[in-house]
Amino acid sequence: MAARAARAARARRDVYWFGDGVADGSKEDKELLGGKGANLAEMSRMGLPVPPGFTITTEVCTDFLAEKGVFSASVRKQVAAALVKVERSIGKKFADADDPLLVSVRSGARVSMPGMMDTVLNLGLNHKTVEGLAAKSGNRRFAWDAYRRFVQMYSDVVLGVGAVDGELHDPFTMALEALKNRVGVEEDTELSAADLERLVGEFKRIVFDRTGEPFPDDPQEQLWGAIEAVFRSWNNDRAIAYRQMEGISSSWGTAVSVVAMVYGNLGKTSGTGVAFTRDPATGEKRFYGEYLIDAQGEDVVAGIRTPLPIASLEKTLPKAWRELQRIQKLLEKHYRDMQDLEFTIQEGRLYMLQCRSGKRTGFAAVQIATDMVREKLITRDEALLRVDPEGLNQLLRPVFDPKELDVARAKGRLLTKGLNAGPGAATGRIVFSPEAAERRAAEHPEPVILARIETSPEDIKGMQASVGILTARGGMTSHAALVARQMGLVCVAGAGEIEIDYARRCMTAGGRVIEEGEWVSLDGNTGEVYQGLVNTQPSAVIEHLFAAETKPARKATKHAPATGIVKAFLTLMKWADEVRELGVRTNADQPDQCETAIAFGAEGIGLTRTEHMFFGDEKIEAVREMILAEDQEAREEALARILPLQREDFEGIFMEMGQRPVTIRTLDPPLHEFLPMEEEAQRELAKAMGVPFKRLHAKVEYLSELNPMLGHRGCRLGIAHPEITRCQVRALFEAACRVAKRTGRKPRPEVMIPLVGTVRELELQAMVVREEAAAVCKRLEIDIPYLLGTMIELPRACLVADKIAAVADFFSFGTNDLTQTTYGISRDDAGKFIPAYMENEIFDHDPFAQLDQVGVGRLMHIACHEGRQVKPDLKLGICGEHGGDPSSIDFCHRLGLEYVSCSPYRVPIARLAAAQAALRHGPKGGDVEDRRRSTATRGLRH
Ligand code: ADP
Ligand code: MG
Ligand code: MG
Repeated sequence: MAARAARAARARRDVYWFGDGVADGSKEDKELLGGKGANLAEMSRMGLPVPPGFTITTEVCTDFLAEKGVFSASVRKQVAAALVKVERSIGKKFADADDPLLVSVRSGARVSMPGMMDTVLNLGLNHKTVEGLAAKSGNRRFAWDAYRRFVQMYSDVVLGVGAVDGELHDPFTMALEALKNRVGVEEDTELSAADLERLVGEFKRIVFDRTGEPFPDDPQEQLWGAIEAVFRSWNNDRAIAYRQMEGISSSWGTAVSVVAMVYGNLGKTSGTGVAFTRDPATGEKRFYGEYLIDAQGEDVVAGIRTPLPIASLEKTLPKAWRELQRIQKLLEKHYRDMQDLEFTIQEGRLYMLQCRSGKRTGFAAVQIATDMVREKLITRDEALLRVDPEGLNQLLRPVFDPKELDVARAKGRLLTKGLNAGPGAATGRIVFSPEAAERRAAEHPEPVILARIETSPEDIKGMQASVGILTARGGMTSHAALVARQMGLVCVAGAGEIEIDYARRCMTAGGRVIEEGEWVSLDGNTGEVYQGLVNTQPSAVIEHLFAAETKPARKATKHAPATGIVKAFLTLMKWADEVRELGVRTNADQPDQCETAIAFGAEGIGLTRTEHMFFGDEKIEAVREMILAEDQEAREEALARILPLQREDFEGIFMEMGQRPVTIRTLDPPLHEFLPMEEEAQRELAKAMGVPFKRLHAKVEYLSELNPMLGHRGCRLGIAHPEITRCQVRALFEAACRVAKRTGRKPRPEVMIPLVGTVRELELQAMVVREEAAAVCKRLEIDIPYLLGTMIELPRACLVADKIAAVADFFSFGTNDLTQTTYGISRDDAGKFIPAYMENEIFDHDPFAQLDQVGVGRLMHIACHEGRQVKPDLKLGICGEHGGDPSSIDFCHRLGLEYVSCSPYRVPIARLAAAQAALRHGPKGGDVEDRRRSTATRGLRH
């Protein structure tokens, strides 16, 4: 056995070749080769100009990390053999003093993690080979530029020499800046060979000072050092933070690609660039990108110089431009998706160094997906699966009110204009460091805008804490722009006129000084930056939905047909509706919310919280009287005052909802919530109500509970005071009858009893509901068909669902409380420890945001299954927050629920998520049990 295992291990291919028009791997091998390695292989197979190289697999990474940093002899042998192959292909030898082969050592995980892993360029240089490179290229400046870059990157990535506490920059950047100052130049490119040679000497001294070791000169040692560092970087803090944010498994590991160098820093006919086959911000079909002449690697992304727009390449290097055009079209067709490309031009010749599906904004995702269907590049179903439902948020988000912008401009508050790198409108208080962003966001409710000269991967957490990002340097493909788009943040990048002073925590822009903490507004759609607050207005999509769907009369006159992004959005939503099987309802308590939700496509109400209606000015008084009532008679008197007010609320809702179903929950929260807690307020209230303060105070004391979440609430209120339920039901049915008479269309109420744990509770409340409903209908001589069901929010209810189903027409899962009661965690107190639970991987996500499918989901499954055994046509839905969360919606589809219900603004997201679930899993109600078992045996958490 052991021998066979050893043989198998020997036989395993750890190193995959690419180059010269062939490759061992292909784009299908992302798990093994990482995205970068797989696509380098694919491009090589396609015959594109990719420098030769090889990829060491993610399996080697996982082994290396598990074996505490040892490579097997087999891996070493395979790497050596592959390196020889690269030497042959290029016709240069690694470590050769006369004409050295140099390589880059690049990381690449299964999914791209922008800037998380580090790449080392020009590896193989030392005091001997640099001379060979200089002689062979006839360009001394280039050779020393390559060398200083190499020492800088290697020292940072491999040797870990960076900024220490109190330093704003790493020592190499500081040495470089100091040198430029001494010499009196602005740009790196103006430094001479001699300057750069001196700089390398300085860099090496820094390394020796900081590490106590000389900088490694042996190219083999450099190579293995870099490979190890890339593998180790899988577990650096930045990578871990990013993985947690994106829910990427730590077990995947990264691959390493070793690639023969091509040089973009060989002078005026060389350069490096980044491009997208379509606009990543808007989705517009136009080739989009940026490049720098005489530059290498990360220069474009790092925002060291502000790059040139790609279109100008046609003039500067026409041959490379034409080749790039041919390749970008080919790649988009081949991958059938918008591609993000990295290329280098060496003395006029184009080389492709990377391609991948491009990150894009929500706008671009919708635009590109629908465009590509029209272009017959992808199918409708593929288009639906390509759009991240959360991204739709961006299309619904407000934009600045143009009138306000005019005023701001007139008052001279327009500070500057940068690149519109991340769409949307953001107003917030400005800070100049990621730490300050995190701190402020934690301490103040006001939004934060993070301004940086340029951002780097270390800034991720601070960016996440902000609503908008402003940078002074860098282009549309800079780190800030990339990450902001991915996180859905508003971003203005490369606003070159602003000057940020980190030390004094202020910036100068448009002749004004803006201090930390001042209000600033960023327009991510135009790139404009304003001083102060600017108010917002609804987006184009919102404008259209509200004008077209709820005010049909205005449609013809005021509103032109949908165009651009609005049209794309409507198309995508139409497709989603064709595909999805889950119904989508909304949680709404007021007529205007109903109107919003219908415009968004809601098909009914899944939850009306009647208590929200109790807080209106007049109403709260009557409610308080009802609570303070000494006896049933007094209580009924107070209820009689509430009744017409509540009836009016219901009428409003029924008028809006027409014949769509409306689920109305009877009173749920504990009564003390309606009384003031503070003594001062109690005194005022007592005076206003003409009751002795003592009595009122005593009542509050009496009602206060040690654990209100589990106290006298839900159906327990209606059981102690049936007259409350009765009053609500009367209001509801009177409203329904009135609306039916007025409109000729009968509303469809669904009465929902909360917090039921035993069938007897439901029976008692059902009796009250049925009696009162019948009485109203008889009195008003109109029959209103209705459903009577319960909210399932206690584990016991799930376990006795067969009994409860005998009395209920429907179950609606109240997964907020069901999650609280299943975990025994109070949501309102969980904020303190959920972060620690995430960090310790007890939770891989917040269970109040994403349904715990294994535990809470299991209870839901029992309830559905047993309920339907007793009553096959039992209606099933969900009305907790999870009803608007895509992963939870996916689960609800598999569970076979009738509908999900969510807040109005999440309705479009839910429609798309429901369509995706149908496409992924086929018909509703697939076997969740089986999945649960297979998840359990795969050893996942929970
Ligand atoms: P990232 O994952 O951060 O994009 P990459 O491995 O793609 O890192 O490397 C960053 C940049 O370095 C590339 O976009 C490319 O410009 C440059 N680069 C990498 N390998 C080479 C190479 N062999 N020759 C020239 N430039 C390279
Ligand atoms: Mg990088
Ligand atoms: Mg790259």
